[in-house]
Amino acid sequence: MNNNKNYTLPRVFVGFLLIAMILLTERIGIVYKAQDTSKQILPREEVQNLKVIPKEHDTLIVYDPENAASTKAMTQYDSIMTDMRVGYDKVEISRVTNAVISKYKKLIIIFPNLNDWSTQIETVKEWTDKGGHLMLGYRPQYSGVLASLSDELGIKEFNDDYILVNSFISEPDFMLGSKSTYHIIDGYESSIDPVLSGESHVYAKTEAGLPLIWKHKTEKGMTVVCNFAYCDKAYRGIFAAAFSLLDDVTVYPVINASTYYLDDFPSPVQMGDATYIKRDYNMDVAEFYSSIWWPDVLKLSDKHNIQYTGLIIETYSDKTKGRLAKNEVTSDYDYFGNLLLGKGGEIGWHGYNHQPLCTNTFTYKENKGYNRWPDKKEMKKSLKELDKFTTELFPEEKAQVYVPPSNILSDEGRDVLTKNFKNIKAIASIYFTGKDEYSQEFSVSPDGIVETPRIVSSCVLDDYMRISAFSELNMHYVNSHFMHPDDLLDVDRGAEIGWKKLSANLDDYMTWVDESAPDIEHVTGSGMAGAVQRFVNVIPETKIVNGCVEIDIAGLLDKANFFVRINEGEVGKVSGGNLTKLNDTLYLLKADKEKVSIELK
Ligand SMILES: [Zn+2]
Repeated sequence: MNNNKNYTLPRVFVGFLLIAMILLTERIGIVYKAQDTSKQILPREEVQNLKVIPKEHDTLIVYDPENAASTKAMTQYDSIMTDMRVGYDKVEISRVTNAVISKYKKLIIIFPNLNDWSTQIETVKEWTDKGGHLMLGYRPQYSGVLASLSDELGIKEFNDDYILVNSFISEPDFMLGSKSTYHIIDGYESSIDPVLSGESHVYAKTEAGLPLIWKHKTEKGMTVVCNFAYCDKAYRGIFAAAFSLLDDVTVYPVINASTYYLDDFPSPVQMGDATYIKRDYNMDVAEFYSSIWWPDVLKLSDKHNIQYTGLIIETYSDKTKGRLAKNEVTSDYDYFGNLLLGKGGEIGWHGYNHQPLCTNTFTYKENKGYNRWPDKKEMKKSLKELDKFTTELFPEEKAQVYVPPSNILSDEGRDVLTKNFKNIKAIASIYFTGKDEYSQEFSVSPDGIVETPRIVSSCVLDDYMRISAFSELNMHYVNSHFMHPDDLLDVDRGAEIGWKKLSANLDDYMTWVDESAPDIEHVTGSGMAGAVQRFVNVIPETKIVNGCVEIDIAGLLDKANFFVRINEGEVGKVSGGNLTKLNDTLYLLKADKEKVSIELK
């Protein structure tokens, strides 16, 4: 007993020391270290190739300009093929001759009614039997010509009805994120109902078991069928993955980056409907954000290894002319901003206030009540004030990423921003199109600005967002999410659901990214921009020589990432880069040499 007592004091002392050390560490965390994020973005003149496809074109896409679905699909296929750097030609259905088809190794048909092309289908059949690779890149309709192709397509017989497609499940050896079922909003009776032959390999199906993507080998060639009628931007990754089945090996560049943005952060205390914060926490808005929301958001960053990009806003005043007053109340900016930076995050620009950079020359299709700026000069003045404000607060940071308020940015506004503020290297607006939104592709514009769209948002993360995220993980190996602190003050963005459930949703989404893509690189907004620069610049050409996959990479800046789909064979020795297995047929290649060789066993 006595002995034990002798040890009590030192133990208490050690406890105190530990607490002191923890507190000290946290203090050090508050004193931010400016990150050298600029290192990741390359000087704009280094990016010379803006998604140039290889000179050799081995793929032909046939579409029907008279058919709306086919034209729409063609638009998506243009983006998919360009981003995958496939050497391809497209041709209207009426212009294809036998001689044209015989020049290509791969043929993609993207019109629904094959009867419209009955004159050529015998040639296609022969070409496929002799070694051609044919893909029905859009859901076919029932037709006599389809029935005549059934042997080639691995179809035994057809049932007559169109079947409801409201879910998508990938086989584990096909797409990333295959553990989940993805639900499709507004699904309809859109796909044919085939009975497949035993030799067909199904890669994706609905929850009810309807085959959506399958592959079949002919005597010397192969066919892939996309029995999937939703050919929109949100589903590109599905078609890209299907195309990657159309050869023994398919190599395509990817971005390899995951990032999370916090819009309106740091900012003045949020405004909006605080009903639900009061209901759940009995606190005022300011207290909720500092003592509940922010610690939770930081916990998620620790758990999922996330470095947030905060988009600063100086004031919520809606003034767009006259004297733009400086915000003198900066203690919250210090506190939140430095904690964010201390965790490896980054601060970009959102705006002096939340009024989009638009003058009277911009026509809003939807009236959201924004004030317009009188002219370019006033817009410039507002950004100068924001620049000054940000530099005083965080002198060692230079903002490189701009997120337009409400994702709206006029041509004039973009001009003011990019011509006067050379520190801004990337614009992170939005991937999907809206009424007034500045919608983007992952690309570099001719003026050198990197376009880094955000794909999904908020903590609600509905079915549409989930399948979009799944598609992009497979299209570009990218995740890009944003949310606003004031989501909790807006019923349309889920306020009523409450932060407890919303943060659990967000945690669940982050876990999905981690599990679906454990090797994806976690970056801030600048890191995303740097990754996009490297992605757009490469022009890979792949050949199989003596049992080796040989990839020649023109435009390699320092390193670049590729998906390598190996449908036949196992991987042996690799030179010129690092290969990581993602599933049974898909690998991530990090190339650091212009010549990469992957031995096949
Ligand atoms: Zn905002």
